[in-house]
Amino acid sequence: MLSSTVVCLACGSDKVIPPPSGGFNGQIEVRYASDITPEVQSAVTSAAARWTRALSKNMGDFPLNSAANHCFVGEPQLSETHHNLLLFVTVTPIDGLNGQLAYTQICSVSDRDTLPVLSHIRLDRADLDSMVARGVLDDVLMHEMGHALGFVPTSYMPKALTAGGTDDPRFVGAVAQSEFAKHGAWYTGARVPLENSAGVGPRDPHWRFTVFGDELMVPVVGPGFKSPLSSITLGLFQDLGYTVDFSQADPYEVVPLFGDNRVVPETSLRNDVVRTKAPTFVSPVAAY
Ligand SMILES: [Zn+2]
Repeated sequence: MLSSTVVCLACGSDKVIPPPSGGFNGQIEVRYASDITPEVQSAVTSAAARWTRALSKNMGDFPLNSAANHCFVGEPQLSETHHNLLLFVTVTPIDGLNGQLAYTQICSVSDRDTLPVLSHIRLDRADLDSMVARGVLDDVLMHEMGHALGFVPTSYMPKALTAGGTDDPRFVGAVAQSEFAKHGAWYTGARVPLENSAGVGPRDPHWRFTVFGDELMVPVVGPGFKSPLSSITLGLFQDLGYTVDFSQADPYEVVPLFGDNRVVPETSLRNDVVRTKAPTFVSPVAAY
């Protein structure tokens, strides 16, 4: 199923964005809650279509009722029943040139499976031209959409899918572990290693850069990176509860960035899952 896209230019926070006529039956519905550019719209549409080909789940229909700005600044008032994930995308100033390029917020999750049903991705307007010029906008949006779909502690921590402390956090989902073993047999540590540079243990929702190297869900993206969507990341999403089409995985091998081969990260996506308030839990209106 393809995602639908509803473009809302300069939507004010006091305006209600109506649900699309005819309802929504796809996996991800994207709505814009700020001015956007054609480049952003193209990259968002492409990323949503890619993730929709890779993941599917009938999560249910969720009553979304919230005041404007409830979860993020610029969020419209919501009063609708929505099927699967509603994803808002905004382009606004964050912190000026460089620094944080983008971030994701999880606003609501299903109380059935802790998967997100309302998420928000914000791109830093100051970095937009640079991201386009450096050719990383598509990768940044694919990465953030991975968070928006559930590669976040809010979704995986309640499922007891992690282990380890701040030095050696890891994702212990069976499918991700199995896929990692196929591609990283050289790695003798406990798998699957999560990023350990932020000191937050398993709550850092990225693969460990020093082990994975160039992969979509490491906290680094930059020119020359291919940011492949690996079968390990798809395995994580199967562990989370999605049905996964592994034929959508990109070619990937776990290649560590050691010694002379180490790439100096040019662009960081660290700390790009922002939690300004606890996500609300929403029950589907019918059993699924
Ligand atoms: Zn990230």
